[in-house]
Amino acid sequence: MATANPMFTVAEAKPDKLRSLGIIALNGMFDEMDAEGVLRQAAEELLPGDLAIVSSFGADSAVLLHVVSKVNPDLPVLFLETGKHFPETLAYVETLKQQLGLTNVLALHPDSGDIERFDPNGNLWETDPDSCCHIRKTEPLEKVVSGYGGWVTGRKRFQTSDRGVLPHFELTSDDRIKVNPLAYFTHADIEAYKAEHGLPEHPLYAEGYKSIGCAPCTSAVAEGEDPRAGRWRGLNKQECGIHFDFNGKIAAPMSQSEKTLFKDGEFKADPWRAWAEDDVPGDVRYTHVPVTVFLENRDAFLASPHPIGLQVDPGEKVEDVAEDLDRFSSIAINFPKFTDGRGYSSARLVRERYGYEGEMRAVGDVLTDQIPFMRRCGINAFIVTHKPTREALEKDALAAVSHYYQPVGLGEVPAGTRPFLRRNGSYT
Ligand code: SF4
Repeated sequence: MATANPMFTVAEAKPDKLRSLGIIALNGMFDEMDAEGVLRQAAEELLPGDLAIVSSFGADSAVLLHVVSKVNPDLPVLFLETGKHFPETLAYVETLKQQLGLTNVLALHPDSGDIERFDPNGNLWETDPDSCCHIRKTEPLEKVVSGYGGWVTGRKRFQTSDRGVLPHFELTSDDRIKVNPLAYFTHADIEAYKAEHGLPEHPLYAEGYKSIGCAPCTSAVAEGEDPRAGRWRGLNKQECGIHFDFNGKIAAPMSQSEKTLFKDGEFKADPWRAWAEDDVPGDVRYTHVPVTVFLENRDAFLASPHPIGLQVDPGEKVEDVAEDLDRFSSIAINFPKFTDGRGYSSARLVRERYGYEGEMRAVGDVLTDQIPFMRRCGINAFIVTHKPTREALEKDALAAVSHYYQPVGLGEVPAGTRPFLRRNGSYT
């Protein structure tokens, strides 16, 4: 399917390194380029004949598909025909195909044998939605998308905090390229683009469906509610089965008990992993790198195009990496045992002295009693395996901290001290 790409012809000997350098260069060269320019570069120079677009034909899809129509309406657009869509979505597929002149929209159907075996009554979405997404979305897409050298997504930075560093071009661990032409679009940009080009709205959008998937798993949202709140409402599921993991593979469904990351009030899938001994600096992505490893390989990590995190172990000094903290998309503070409080000091330095605003998580021996204190130090995510602690978090049953001896930040005064100290910030 792929034709040789001059940019990466020599990459066959050392594909990942050279391709990584290529990706860095691309992101630098096309950082200022608009969505059309980014897609054109990918479709015509980087991966001619070897690029597919994945679209849900949902509420926001028209923008990316309009960009596709301008670059090349013959590009393959993959649509997952799960058999569970609203009739309005299927009509919208036809509307957009005609209006935008898309000639190569491919509907991917689930394997009929899988449906017969696992979902003969069509109600798997109710009893086991992860498995339903797996057979209706993940597997059909995996089969097709693995035949391309790269694919295009409609992801945008503003959608989640994890996507805050989303670049235009990403390299997956199996040397494929993900292209995100809308990475820098804001919600306002999307709306303005739709209006400017007179793009048709999904028929259900005006009825309050702001994020649209399969009919049984989508409901309208109230004014001011998170647009994704209407997806799998009440079904204890937040993710679509076709998200890609951070090594570039289509992620397998995860059971609730495997989700150890507690963040934003819920347990969720964790894209990050810990540094391993045989990891190669510059190649890893979504990996928490220990301070010492980072310092030994600082140049390689700073040149890497991939999101990386920092792990701070007891005894390691945050001060040593202070000037590079903005490079990290996540910082993991290690609390290896309950009695070791050094992590609290590290967390405060990161937040209060250096003003880091990203995710800061507690890892290690994270227990119920510690979490309120960790939060006071600016930690906003927790890796929790301890069952009673998980239950306390799920029930929002953690004790509040009202008495303390060591104040944090401006304005806190330990019990029994003189109130005038509160005013001049002497306890910071
Ligand atoms: S979104 Fe719902 S109906 Fe569609 S595949 Fe997933 S669980 Fe099944």
